[in-house]
Amino acid sequence: MATTARKACKFCIMEHGLKGSDLASLPETDDELYEHLERVHHIPVQREDETEQQAMERFWTAYPEAHNPATCKCQVCTLNRLTQSL
Ligand SMILES: [Zn+2]
Ligand SMILES: [Zn+2]
Repeated sequence: MATTARKACKFCIMEHGLKGSDLASLPETDDELYEHLERVHHIPVQREDETEQQAMERFWTAYPEAHNPATCKCQVCTLNRLTQSL
């Protein structure tokens, strides 16, 4: 019997470790993980059936707040905000 390993997000682990409550909501498929990366971390992921440009267009349309360094949740912007608030 094949077991589906849940896919732990490296960025979540890096940010706050893995809590018991997170385990139940971990993505189970690559698609779910990609969706999580885009929604939670604002990291665009190019899917197999799209070009890099299509991926970026889809990402910017779905997450316009990622355009703004004040609201973008990607690692770079998060780090920048941290350094600025020192
Ligand atoms: Zn994550
Ligand atoms: Zn950003």
